[in-house]
Amino acid sequence: MRGGKTDQANLGTRSVWGGEDEYSMQGATQVPVVHSVGYGYDDVDEWYEVALGLRPGHIYGRNSNPTVHVFEEKVRMLEGAEAATSFSTGMAAISNTLFTLLRPGDRVVSLVDTYGGTNKIFSEFLPNFHIEPVLCPTTDHERLISEVNQGAKILYLESPTNPTLKIVDLKRLIDAAHLAGALVVVDNTFATPINQQPLALGADLVIHSATKFLGGHADALGGVVVGRRDLVEQIYHYREINGATLHPMSAYLLLRGMKTLHLRVRQQCASAMKIASFLAEHPAVDQVFYPGLPDHENHDIAKRQMVQFGGVLSFSLKGGFDAVRVLLPELKYAHLAANLGAVETTAGPPRTTSHVELTHEERAALGIPETLIRYSVGIEDVGDLIEDLAQALAHVPHELHVRS
Ligand SMILES: *Cc1c(COP(=O)(O)O)cnc(C)c1O
Repeated sequence: MRGGKTDQANLGTRSVWGGEDEYSMQGATQVPVVHSVGYGYDDVDEWYEVALGLRPGHIYGRNSNPTVHVFEEKVRMLEGAEAATSFSTGMAAISNTLFTLLRPGDRVVSLVDTYGGTNKIFSEFLPNFHIEPVLCPTTDHERLISEVNQGAKILYLESPTNPTLKIVDLKRLIDAAHLAGALVVVDNTFATPINQQPLALGADLVIHSATKFLGGHADALGGVVVGRRDLVEQIYHYREINGATLHPMSAYLLLRGMKTLHLRVRQQCASAMKIASFLAEHPAVDQVFYPGLPDHENHDIAKRQMVQFGGVLSFSLKGGFDAVRVLLPELKYAHLAANLGAVETTAGPPRTTSHVELTHEERAALGIPETLIRYSVGIEDVGDLIEDLAQALAHVPHELHVRS
């Protein structure tokens, strides 16, 4: 069959062919977008068997859909997982996973630097259900392991983190959590399966905001959970009831985007490395945060567990927020926007986007400088991006460089 044995192919081939062999409508080579909500059966016994899951097929769009299924299969193959289930957004994937697996009295150990929405689930919503979130300093591995050893249902990790690109040692933490009897969930959104495969390091579940690199075109929201079949089935069951279903049109857009995932991500990572090196030498730049730089705090761990270092970097400017106000509007080849992972470069200050609700002190405690700019590298020619940054940085008045 076309695309057969995609599971064993290399990642680029999996990006293109993964899941695509599942479906053929009158010889169409592309996956059709099936908008139908219901699926009709002339034979009531067959209908009954499909409804019970005894034979393949679909009943109702909230539960499953052929287009959505192909999307799930593609991600499942890219992450080398047993099973996959999808969601309307990345946050739906995260919250459905946590609310499926956690019970009153459970502890969940995680990082202070998780994605903003995830952090809110931990600090604002889980305590309502008597679930205790324990958020540790992100790179304090001893502390994370000691908290897990005191009893935890889930160790929830993210690496690299947003927006300061911190790295945690996945293998070390996964092994420690398993020894302590905890499940490990990893948000792999920033790394993508092209750069990092947490399931191969032993993680139980991997989550993506497909809205970002997987889709890659900033035109569809989506989320996905892949990993151990028994866990994914429980999470799927919660989602089919709770209703955070991925729309078939979004599934199609994400699917089409994923066919170029490997090309985009390789280009974005190579460009990010060059841009990070350029910024590190620039007099108006205070600090550059990118795990590919040899002086990054956890560069050695990143080198061990990642292929390339990701398409997102961040940097802070000398001279207070006025420097940010001057720089950003001068960028020609960047949307000033909150999303990331798209083919177009996107830039913005965490102070006004992901971390807008935090106080100055809270941001400082997370190591987020007030003048930090998150820069998600697109697939433009890197020479143009560097030239663009150079001309924009030249607009920052010199007195702002030295006052810091
Ligand atoms: C964007 C993002 C999410 C949330 O995804 P949505 O699709 O916006 O709901 C979760 N984790 C990370 C790391 C993200 O960047």
